[in-house]
Amino acid sequence: MMKISGLIKQLEAFAPLAYQESYDNSGLLIGNADWECKGVICSLDATEEVVMEAVNKGCNLVIAHHPIIFGGLKKITGKDYIERTVIAAIKNDVAIYAIHTNLDNVAFGVNNVMADALKLTNRSILAPKNNTLAKLITYIPLDYFDKVERALFDAGAGNIGNYSEVSFSTHGVGAFKANELANPYLGEIGLRHKTAEYKIEVIIPLFLQQKVIKALIASHPYEEVAYEILPLANADTQIGSGMVGDLQEELTEVEFLSIIKEVFSLQVIKHTPLLNKPVKRVALCGGSGSFLIKKAITAGADFYITGDVKYHEFFDADKRLIIADIGHWESEQFTVNLLIDIIKSKFPTFAVLKSECITNSVRYFL
Ligand SMILES: [Zn+2]
Repeated sequence: MMKISGLIKQLEAFAPLAYQESYDNSGLLIGNADWECKGVICSLDATEEVVMEAVNKGCNLVIAHHPIIFGGLKKITGKDYIERTVIAAIKNDVAIYAIHTNLDNVAFGVNNVMADALKLTNRSILAPKNNTLAKLITYIPLDYFDKVERALFDAGAGNIGNYSEVSFSTHGVGAFKANELANPYLGEIGLRHKTAEYKIEVIIPLFLQQKVIKALIASHPYEEVAYEILPLANADTQIGSGMVGDLQEELTEVEFLSIIKEVFSLQVIKHTPLLNKPVKRVALCGGSGSFLIKKAITAGADFYITGDVKYHEFFDADKRLIIADIGHWESEQFTVNLLIDIIKSKFPTFAVLKSECITNSVRYFL
């Protein structure tokens, strides 16, 4: 039997909830994580049609990129599509889980699958997040060093970019005097004791702070474990919005527009005037990405691909790059396959379906 919590754990290991934006509402929106999961259906949006598709196909969990409950609900009377979706889900015992800006903000999330589609190389996050990292410093007697270090790594410490189990340690002397209430691992009550220790420094994601400290204390032999947690001002190169990378070969603007059109199966692209310059560096952001136009310029991008760009925001291109608005839904269309891949990678035999509903409300009359 598979519980919904098992699937959630896998999704949140990939895109931790802590990385969603402050305005967002990702996570389990409807249902109970303890329910047995009978089947999953993945969609960009959890609409009433998707909930009913889940019911008809024997699924009781909808995993959607966009949270159907976003601004809070004060009444649930069925007066709009949001309330009707909530009612349909509750009536039919269907859980709804949203994985939104946390999936936008991880290095292998929404933007990475767009970059895959365009075969971009040398990828990096366009606007890395700050205030997500801390450094843990602690002191370990020599014979416990390997055990404590391993416990810290297992709890999520020591990851920098493509490197794991990263630490720095120095050898020194620790000293202490235990009072009558103490039960010291080393030395005697009332006498100052000196012992050889390693000082170890590891980087930790701030959201894992409690988990790492718990692992430290559980694995460390001392009654009082000395440690410091220092928040870091470093940007987190693995977490943030947008992405920038290079095309495998330089293209003309028209060639690249044709490729975008084909790759994203578009009928139309809204873009700023062509600059008659070669295209090599490409920035992108799935969904509503006009907040990153200036970052795309700073990153030296020749093109910026996103959705939901408003009239005045197109002016921000300022002849520095070409903004291509391909549509919100269109830019995120590969996200559903990503959700399916995340689940299948851990639970290869579990029933995970792709919704057949086209939830995009935008149509083009050509
Ligand atoms: Zn979106």
